[in-house]
Amino acid sequence: MNFELTDDQRMLKETVARFVDNDVIPRAADLDEEARFPEESFRAMADMGLFGISIPEEHGGSGAGFLSCVLVMEELARGCVSTANTYGAHAILCTENIYRNGNEAQRRKYLPDLISGKAIGALCITEPEAGSDAMSLRTRAVRKGDRYILNGTKMFITNGPVADVAVVYAKTDPDAGAKGITAFIVEKGFPGFSTGKTLKKMGVRGSPTGELIFEDCEVPAENVLLEENKGVRVLMSGLDRERIVYSIAPIGVAQAALDAALRYAMDRKQFGAPIASFQMIQEMLADMATDVQTGRILAYWAATQCEQKERVRLEASYAKLFCSQAGIRVVDRAMQIFGGYGFIKEFPVERFYRDVKGIEFGAGTTQIQKLIIVRELLKGMGAAGSRG
Ligand SMILES: Cc1cc2nc3c(=O)[nH]c(=O)nc-3n(C[C@H](O)[C@H](O)[C@H](O)COP(=O)(O)OP(=O)(O)OC[C@H]3O[C@@H](n4cnc5c(N)ncnc54)[C@H](O)[C@@H]3O)c2cc1C
Repeated sequence: MNFELTDDQRMLKETVARFVDNDVIPRAADLDEEARFPEESFRAMADMGLFGISIPEEHGGSGAGFLSCVLVMEELARGCVSTANTYGAHAILCTENIYRNGNEAQRRKYLPDLISGKAIGALCITEPEAGSDAMSLRTRAVRKGDRYILNGTKMFITNGPVADVAVVYAKTDPDAGAKGITAFIVEKGFPGFSTGKTLKKMGVRGSPTGELIFEDCEVPAENVLLEENKGVRVLMSGLDRERIVYSIAPIGVAQAALDAALRYAMDRKQFGAPIASFQMIQEMLADMATDVQTGRILAYWAATQCEQKERVRLEASYAKLFCSQAGIRVVDRAMQIFGGYGFIKEFPVERFYRDVKGIEFGAGTTQIQKLIIVRELLKGMGAAGSRG
């Protein structure tokens, strides 16, 4: 097993790290304070070609592997979780999803604007009554001639309030359970499609999250992804990739928290000595560094597996479960090392603390990852129908 990044991967990571240091970090506190979409960074990411990294060159991308997306996500999250969340929902959940599941006409129609950042993408699974139990979604799609009529409400949609293009899951055969779900590409301008409320959040505030409403929304039949009633295939493969790309986000923010805590522990003096000289502080720093490094290796490994084989359910859930918990642990310890100063907005640890919790829920909560892992280990004897 080779844990070395290739020259291209290292170069990509360094380029994104420079962008994050120079452009993303200086804006992060304001985006959080103002709950504002990271417009400038979105444009810059488009110019850097980050939205099509894993999409082949003939479709307008740069043809790098999935691990490259994880490297980008890691660096973005180190600087600003909101910007990372925007990137993930746009580039992976929507754009890459349309590349992987779309036909040639759909790829030609939607990928250029999504990759160039002219259009903003989103992915819509969750509904007010269907969270972890995604298969119980109620949005209904009925075919009428050359179009489908969609009715329902989607909830918690990242980029939802600003999205131009959304991948939306709806029931086309409500009696067929998971086999009655279809994925659609929906455009902002389609009749009957509107945005509902933008949710006020505790963290990840620069990444708008909202409700999307479909009221007799007309979607052309050619906008079905894959095939009618095959939506669960689109959904499941997408969820595994989402879990992997989002597993590195808490590690990115944990790295930022560790860096900040190390600097602070060396500077801050109590009892006549830097607090970094106290063994209880050293123990926290050692645990934090070990969590970051373990999570990073696990996420990179899951991404590499994802490049090599189609089904990575277990790998994705191992990574998502461990990394989200590790990220929360590390940021909590950073807050402890900062003492009272960690709790005030002058220092970024307070934002890290709120942000790292916000990325625990997407693509299946901690409990759902555990259910998937056990179900995979028991080979199908477990809880069918949940986000796994
Ligand atoms: C910031 C943010 C961004 C998001 N972005 C998107 C997006 O872009 N697109 C999208 O479709 N969704 C998105 N989501 C929604 C996210 O995927 C859901 O929040 C998640 O799937 C959980 O659903 P829920 O919130 O309804 O919780 P519920 O499913 O109601 O769960 C409540 C609690 O019960 C637990 N639980 C549920 N079932 C079980 C079980 N069988 N066993 C044990 N415990 C269980 C859960 O772990 C949780 O602790 C986002 C959420 C957030 C917070």
